[in-house]
Amino acid sequence: MLAAAVHAAHPERSYRYVQIAKKICSRTRVRMPRPLKRLFCKHCGSFLSPAVTRVRLCDGVLTTTCLLCGRQMRRPYRI
Ligand SMILES: [Zn+2]
Repeated sequence: MLAAAVHAAHPERSYRYVQIAKKICSRTRVRMPRPLKRLFCKHCGSFLSPAVTRVRLCDGVLTTTCLLCGRQMRRPYRI
């Protein structure tokens, strides 16, 4: 993903790429592929690098907290 590649060098640009990717998805009615989906914050759309996230595992649920907007995304995982 382009946003991931760009993030290291230009953190502010990756946000823009996420916006573009979202736009494409909504226009073409294509769902965001799963591995890509978990790369972005669902709420504020920022690219989730390990520096801005906090990940917790609890009772089969993986909770990722976006430290930029403070909200959480949850998804189940298999043990
Ligand atoms: Zn966020």
